[in-house]
Amino acid sequence: MGMTNSSILKSFREIMEIVQKSDLTINIMEVCGTHTMALFEHGIRSLLPQNINLISGPGCPVCVTGEEIMVEAFELLEKHNVTLFTFGDMLKVPGEGRTLSILKAQGFSVKVAYSPRNAIEFAEKNPNIEVVFFGAGFETTAPALGATILEAYTKKLKNFSMFLAVKTVPPALGFLVEHNSLIDGFILPGHVSAVIGAKAFRFITENYQIPAAVTGFTAEELLLGISLVVKSILKKEPSYYNAYPHVVREQGNVEAQRIIEEVFEKGDANWRGIGNIPLSGLFIRERYSQYDARKKYGLREKPPIVPRGCKCGEIMLGRMLPPECPLFAKGCTPEKPVGACMVSSEGSCAAYYKYGRR
Ligand code: SF4
Repeated sequence: MGMTNSSILKSFREIMEIVQKSDLTINIMEVCGTHTMALFEHGIRSLLPQNINLISGPGCPVCVTGEEIMVEAFELLEKHNVTLFTFGDMLKVPGEGRTLSILKAQGFSVKVAYSPRNAIEFAEKNPNIEVVFFGAGFETTAPALGATILEAYTKKLKNFSMFLAVKTVPPALGFLVEHNSLIDGFILPGHVSAVIGAKAFRFITENYQIPAAVTGFTAEELLLGISLVVKSILKKEPSYYNAYPHVVREQGNVEAQRIIEEVFEKGDANWRGIGNIPLSGLFIRERYSQYDARKKYGLREKPPIVPRGCKCGEIMLGRMLPPECPLFAKGCTPEKPVGACMVSSEGSCAAYYKYGRR
């Protein structure tokens, strides 16, 4: 954008002053969990006037993974005796009162992976052990998951498969704008956009006339993204910005998109607390079905399970703030989370718990 840090800050302050003096209420959704944390960490919420609300969206992969998925993962361990690799933040996600961490303590083989390649390496070294990689994520994780499946396919690995809960962000935002007319602007996820391209979110402004900015993660980048969106709201001229152009290209990462397209196909997916969103999930294509743990172990899809009293869905739809949940900081804490929004460090409940209201 060619602006210096001091001019970004100056422009931000000027715009915020205008909003403060106005009788407007502006709701901006930051979609991505990393943005939620960065906004708190940089103290940006405290720089905003009271009449701008930042709403944390559904952009934390752990938070949108339903309990029924966890129950299926437990089934892989208990009924099929697999060694299950997963990312560390999945260990504490509850499923009907249990977690992978509890099963690990009971002696089931659960291993933390930093990359899906850890699981493939383990499977190669241990041909007699059935290895499953359990991955939840968005378009950011999908290329690495797809590349791992391609590697297993090339190596003709027999004792490896994947159990996936991968979702795509644009259909979820389409769902949000159709179900929450309160959102006036979007701060769009920088990392997801780097993969799928700034083009992938243009429909928000073009079809729904809502200003939006693809935004980076430093304080200045966040201030810039917010300034652009608020300015566009004030001018009543909905505009779309790529405010992270040194990382995000209009077309995105074409090679990563090619891997996603090769290995996965789109299907309907359940978003925890929100419900079914058409064509918002990525599923392993028939060609690679021997690496699909669901098919390999005949897992049957379970109906969505929502923990009693948890308002994660309402929060991710922007209808409620975490402290408004009756369980917040009482029955539900990061040590003993009820819902996934409190489990992941990027979850909005966990962020509010750590940093407070503003
Ligand atoms: Fe769910 Fe806990 Fe957040 Fe309430 S505070 S919405 S129970 S995760």
